[in-house]
Amino acid sequence: MTSARQVEIFDTSLRDGMQQPNIEISIPNAVALLQRMSGFGVHYAEIGFAGANQFVADLTRALDSADTGAMKLALFGRTRGRGTRVQDWPDAQFILSHKARVPVAVLVIKSRLLDIERSLETTLEENLLMARETIDYLQQSGLEVLVDFEHAMDACCGRRENGELCDPVYRARSLDYFHQLTEQCIAQRVHRIVICDTTGGASPEEVTQVISGLTQRYPDGRFGFHGHTDRGLGVANARAAVFAGAVQIQGTLLGTGERCGNVNLTTVIGSMQLRGEAEFVPPANLAGLTRLAHSAFGAFGFEVPHSSPIVGRGAFGTWAGMHGSSERKNPGAYLWSDPARVGASPVIGVNGQSGKANILLLSESLGAPLDSTQAQALLDANQPMIEGGGFTSSEVSFRLACLRIVGGLPNRFSVKSWRVIDESDETRNRYVQASMQLTIGDASVITTRAEGSGPVDALTKAMRRELEKWYPVIAKMRLGTFSVKAIDVSAHDTAAYVRVTVSFNADGHQPWTTAGVSSDMNQAALMAIEDGFHHWLLVNK
Ligand SMILES: [Zn+2]
Repeated sequence: MTSARQVEIFDTSLRDGMQQPNIEISIPNAVALLQRMSGFGVHYAEIGFAGANQFVADLTRALDSADTGAMKLALFGRTRGRGTRVQDWPDAQFILSHKARVPVAVLVIKSRLLDIERSLETTLEENLLMARETIDYLQQSGLEVLVDFEHAMDACCGRRENGELCDPVYRARSLDYFHQLTEQCIAQRVHRIVICDTTGGASPEEVTQVISGLTQRYPDGRFGFHGHTDRGLGVANARAAVFAGAVQIQGTLLGTGERCGNVNLTTVIGSMQLRGEAEFVPPANLAGLTRLAHSAFGAFGFEVPHSSPIVGRGAFGTWAGMHGSSERKNPGAYLWSDPARVGASPVIGVNGQSGKANILLLSESLGAPLDSTQAQALLDANQPMIEGGGFTSSEVSFRLACLRIVGGLPNRFSVKSWRVIDESDETRNRYVQASMQLTIGDASVITTRAEGSGPVDALTKAMRRELEKWYPVIAKMRLGTFSVKAIDVSAHDTAAYVRVTVSFNADGHQPWTTAGVSSDMNQAALMAIEDGFHHWLLVNK
């Protein structure tokens, strides 16, 4: 049915992506991530630099007993060193020792004259020989060999250090050598020749020129592209490479990597496949893109940035009142693609810019519809929450606010008054106690108190202690995590506000998050905690 060009996805999150400072992933998370990538349809995953560190050794061991489906695993290594025998070369030995589980070798080869002469300190002939012997040795041993031509874009565009242009004579020599290397690799039938924009300095026009030049000159060659985002052009460069005939795009799922990162693969896949410009994964799998991205961010311990193209929460959302109003009349008017195709839903957000239209729309979509007068009442009653992003952080709290306006929230309990004691002495012994008066149902006023490790903990425990007696189902819910963010919600005075978001969970239920905004952190936390309990009681009514 489809005529879109078929392009392979090569993920290097666990090799090049790991060059980003402060990035970490546990072995079980890495294995699970590889399994999810495979399920989505990623063709190759590079799992590390041959023998470089303990992580690679541990991961390859863990993979021995893990099923990663049809996706091919790859190890990255160098061609043999000058003056060594390829059989004795440690990278080749490591790759060979894992070939049963990791059947692909990616060899990095310097392709620019400057780097061979200055960094590698070898002759041009020796570099060709080093490449030829290493490729041959690995191929003879049954491995699929890909080559990464380091600095290929710079070699082809005549660039030297800091992206400066070389003199024309040197440029011509460098390009001539690049072609000798390419011809040699094609003669050896390497599986893919990957053109690297190692510095991230290329432009889409240059990528178009280089890749289309290569595909025309070497019809037997299969070229890939490996880009970086130093100029903010990584995705555009990858797209240009696809249009010019590249059959493989290398990058990292989340755009992680050295300096400004590798090409973000979720953006490349989503932006091109949604428009029919290329087909990276079977069409039915595309609906798993948002889930894959979120689990990948989770595996590395990151939050998905709000504005990540295609996979961020903001990607298919509108917080602007005028847009919300148009979306209501004409769904999709402000979206470039149907979010359902990547497994996402349109988000109607309510914040300081939204106005009534978004409140009407969101309340309706959450099953607690308001009319115009009620929407105004909600706006009036929740100014700090709206301006402080409380309803952006939590649709649960927004829905509860709607129910309060229409009188649809059962009167299970309310907080009449509360107090937190938070003391520490000279030996740093800390004592935190929360006490509160709760109205249960219509009448009973009860006092409850509890100690905790901090105010949020103590407030939750105090509330739970009493509510459990009246509503036993409370025993099944647990406090998850909470976060506090300082915000200045008022342009008219200098009061600083804080937004507290609290997540809760219970076995067999989706976790839920609530939010509170106040000039007082404990008050904000209490708002979120109250909503957390109300939501659970509603779910279990
Ligand atoms: Zn790279």
